Amino acid sequence: MSKILKSFLLILTILTILPVSAQYSSLPVIPEYHQIKSTSLASAFDTNMQKYDVVFQRLSFNVDPSIYYIKGAVDVNYKSFENLDSLVLNLSDSLNIDSIKQRGNMLNYSHQCGLINIDIQNISTGSLDSICIYYQGEPSRNNHAFFISVQDSINYIPVLATLSEPYGASDWWPCKNNLDDKIDSVDINITCPSNNIGVSLGLLTNSVSHGIETTYMWKHRFPVAPYLVSIAVSDYYEYHSYINTKNNDSILFLNYLYQDNLSQKEINIDKTELFVNIYDSLFINYPFKKEKYGHVEFPILGGMEHQTISSMGRFDFEIISHELAHQWFGDYLTCGSWEDLWLNEGFATYCTGLCYENYQDAYWYPFWKEVEVSKITADSTGTVLPVDTLDQSILFSSRLTYRKASYILHMIRWTIGDEDFFQSIRNYLNDTDLSFSFVRTPNLINHFEQQADTSLTEFMDDWFYGEGYPIYHVEWSQSENHQLLIELNQSSVLNDGRFFKLFVPIQLIGENDTLNLRLNNQYNQQQFIVDIPFVVDTVLFDPGLWLISKNSLVDLSVIQVMKDRIMVFPNPTYDFVNVISKQKIESIDVFNIEGRLVLTTSNLRINMSNFVKGVYYLKIKTKQHFLIKKLVKN
Ligand SMILES: [Zn+2]
Repeated sequence: MSKILKSFLLILTILTILPVSAQYSSLPVIPEYHQIKSTSLASAFDTNMQKYDVVFQRLSFNVDPSIYYIKGAVDVNYKSFENLDSLVLNLSDSLNIDSIKQRGNMLNYSHQCGLINIDIQNISTGSLDSICIYYQGEPSRNNHAFFISVQDSINYIPVLATLSEPYGASDWWPCKNNLDDKIDSVDINITCPSNNIGVSLGLLTNSVSHGIETTYMWKHRFPVAPYLVSIAVSDYYEYHSYINTKNNDSILFLNYLYQDNLSQKEINIDKTELFVNIYDSLFINYPFKKEKYGHVEFPILGGMEHQTISSMGRFDFEIISHELAHQWFGDYLTCGSWEDLWLNEGFATYCTGLCYENYQDAYWYPFWKEVEVSKITADSTGTVLPVDTLDQSILFSSRLTYRKASYILHMIRWTIGDEDFFQSIRNYLNDTDLSFSFVRTPNLINHFEQQADTSLTEFMDDWFYGEGYPIYHVEWSQSENHQLLIELNQSSVLNDGRFFKLFVPIQLIGENDTLNLRLNNQYNQQQFIVDIPFVVDTVLFDPGLWLISKNSLVDLSVIQVMKDRIMVFPNPTYDFVNVISKQKIESIDVFNIEGRLVLTTSNLRINMSNFVKGVYYLKIKTKQHFLIKKLVKN
């Protein structure tokens, strides 16, 4: 989603981004999808809201994009979970209720503190009933959820649009504004001046002209969270086509565009078919294919993933792929708490990376990863778990909720492998307990853990609940028989003693050979010995950018064994100890702590598994001299 900017600083940022991102083929500037609203108010909550399920809502709006005003009639069909004699819904106090009716009868109600409390005819558990709320007024500006603007500064064509995420839906229509009850289906009727088109979710089933006004009638037959409902009204240009998928689906594709720069926008928009096919093949088929996908242009630079109709401030590779991905991650599966927003935004951000990987692998995918890691590591503090979901700079942190969250997914992929990673995501999307519903973080993590038969508890403690990232220092040397010793030294950027257990990607390069290693780094200063069939010239740390590490670059120190340097590892040891040296070793004497000789050998890999625990001394003799090394046997 995306937000209206308020601060001057942010406006400056956007102005600098605009000229670049307006061009599709330009550098992939990481977009400010989600400009931060300066203020926000969480919707009010009343436990009585949990006593019923919203089955259907018909939203009938009368609006004019040149006037900041809404007049609405909203039917609410509900099913009671228990005996019910009152119904509680959210609606901003800025709007005035004209009346509330049930089967033509006026109902008594109170409307204060963002809640409507309606006296309804008593119904028993499991019963269905409905009411209709008639209201009008200037919507609250607290959440910037409802706004009017113009298409451009030449023709001043008026635009009306909405963006409710996270708390703004009840600023313009009555609903249960929370994350635990999706409306099973909605009708949205938009009556507006006849030179406009009213755009919304699902299928346009009819448009009825009444002279100076026209009513556009949309039907959406999928469950939807209130924050994903939107309307947009303007004198739009319609660009319609079909998205053809490899599964032989033909998905209706509706686009409502401002009148300017149409040919360039159409070229960019046509890329949507490619992205749908990438997501279809990696995940599951587009969840709303029975209705449509589409875009509607609106006066915010970012985008917002309204269900089946993303609202767009511009059309470039990143924002089109991002908002489309939300249809799977955000709309079909919706975060069940704002604390779980990474399940929406981390996936949508990562999906842009997947589009680069599957479409422009050679250059743009590595570049995308480089930008992500450098932005993530630009600061070391803060968690992906938003510590205050009412503070929108925290909730919509591009560094944490978007980028670091996307890299959590990328690192899980690296940890469990491509096959289990994508299968886990398909399992998550196919989970019938979750489909078209709400998801929490453990829902996703459980699927990864089950599929890969592993635990991600410590990983999530480090990366989701924890702050910072590791900095690596890699030391290596190679013996004459090509045996390679690698020592991984890790420190936390925050110096908090945290150790990040990860598989560390190391690439070895020789004159004509390359070898990729995946070292299971479980503790600091861990040493690895690998038989390499060639002479290694260069050791690279994470060249494929799988990990979040300082600037994703190497804190790599290539230490050649000094001329007479002799290395003994691991130390302490449980069983084997290795001795390597650039010089030829003639023999090794092992002494116990009392100075008694317990072994003499010329073997450079000594089995000490039968030795008693304690301190030993190794006297290592070369042609020129000898060296004593202390060794601990555990
Ligand atoms: Zn997003």
